[in-house]
Amino acid sequence: MSRFVYLDHSATTPVDQKVIDAMMPFFAPDFGNPNSLHAWGRKARQAVDKARNQVAQLINADPAEIIFTGGGSEADNLAIKGVAFAKKDKGRHIITSAIEHHAVLNTCNWLAKEGFDITVLPVDEYGMVRPDELERAIRPDTILVSIHFANNEIGTIEPIEKIGNICRSHGVLFHSDAVQAAGHIPIDVKNLPVDLMTMAAHKMYGPKGVGALYIKKGVKVIPLIHGGGQERGLHSGTENTAGIVGFGEAAALAAERLAKGEIEKETRLRDKLIDGVLKNISDVILTGHRLERLPFHASFCFRYIEGESMLLRLDALGIGASSGSACTSGSLEPSHVLLAIGLPHEVAHGSLRLTMGKDTSDEDIDYVLENLPKVVESLRAMSPYGKRG
Ligand SMILES: *Cc1c(COP(=O)(O)O)cnc(C)c1O
Repeated sequence: MSRFVYLDHSATTPVDQKVIDAMMPFFAPDFGNPNSLHAWGRKARQAVDKARNQVAQLINADPAEIIFTGGGSEADNLAIKGVAFAKKDKGRHIITSAIEHHAVLNTCNWLAKEGFDITVLPVDEYGMVRPDELERAIRPDTILVSIHFANNEIGTIEPIEKIGNICRSHGVLFHSDAVQAAGHIPIDVKNLPVDLMTMAAHKMYGPKGVGALYIKKGVKVIPLIHGGGQERGLHSGTENTAGIVGFGEAAALAAERLAKGEIEKETRLRDKLIDGVLKNISDVILTGHRLERLPFHASFCFRYIEGESMLLRLDALGIGASSGSACTSGSLEPSHVLLAIGLPHEVAHGSLRLTMGKDTSDEDIDYVLENLPKVVESLRAMSPYGKRG
C-alpha cells in the first residue's frame, strides 16, 4: 500500500481551490491597478478593501490596522526595523528570543551592526520564554520586544498575554510573529496586548509572497520601501491584487474552520500521532510543549539517527516531513531552536517535524504510524552511533 501524505504544513500549505477561484479574475479580466480611478481600478480597489476586511476580521483588528506586505519575512522586517528607526531617539535596545524565525533573528543581528543593542532571551526546555526573565531584561532604553506567537520547529505557543502585559506596564512596544498561529488558533488583538503582529498567507492555504503586518492604531513605524505611498505609505508599490484577494479568502476560510471546531479535529489527530510515536518507538523525545502547542504540530528527536536520512526514507514512502526548519536543513549545524531548548548536538541531529493540515486523515496518520517505526528501526540497525535494534 502506498500513499502520498504531506506532513509539512509548517513549511507551506496547498492553496485552497476556493482561494484559487477567488484570485483568478484578478489576473484577467479584473486586472486593473487599484490606484486607477476608472472602472477597472475601482474594481481592484474594492477587492483589496474586501481582503483587508477579511484579514482584519480573522484577528479582530480594524481594517486600517492591516498593512499588506510581500510575505511573512517582509512583515517581520517592517515591524522590527520600522519600530527601531521610528524610536531610535528614545532608545536603541530591543529584546527577542533565541528561538525566533530567522526573519526576526537576522533582522535583529543586522540592527546590532547598525548600533542597536539586542538582548536574546533564553527559553526553557519546552521553548517557553519566561515572563520574569523578560521583565528583568527590560531597561529604560528598551523600545521593542519581539517574541513569536508559536514556534515553527517545535510548535510551542508562547505566553503571549503575560509577555504583552509586561511590555505594556513598561511602555515598551510588543511585536509578535504569528505566522504559524494565525488562522490556526483564535487570535483577538482587541483582547491581547500586542502592538504589531506578523501573518503570512501561505501558511493558511493562501498564496506565497503575500503577508500582512497588523499595526495597532497610533503605533509609529518607518517604511522600508518608499515610492507611491500605497498601504498608508508603509508598503509602496502597486498592490499584489490577486495575492491579496487570495489572502483575504484564505483568512475568511480559516475563520470559518475555526468556528466549526477545526482545533478539536486537528488536536485529536496530533495526539494520536504523538502518542503512537512515543508508545511504539524507543529512545524518542517529543520536542516542544506537550499541551501548549499548535494543534497541527508534532515534533520529535530520535536518538542514534540522522534526521536527513529519516526524511529520505519517509520521502520514498510518500511521506513529506521535515527536519529542523526548511531553511536550515541542508546545513550541518543543527537547528538553533533545538540547541536553545538544551538538546545536545547529537540528539538535535535526529529531529523530525510532522505538521498536519485541514485535509490530513486518520488513514494518513495510520500510514505514518505503521511505517515510521520500521524506518527508525532499520536506520538504527545500520547506525554508526552504536545503538542497535
Ligand atoms: C514561514 C515563517 C515566516 C516567513 O514567512 P514567509 O512568508 O515565508 O516569508 C516567518 N515566521 C515564521 C514563524 C514562519 O513560520
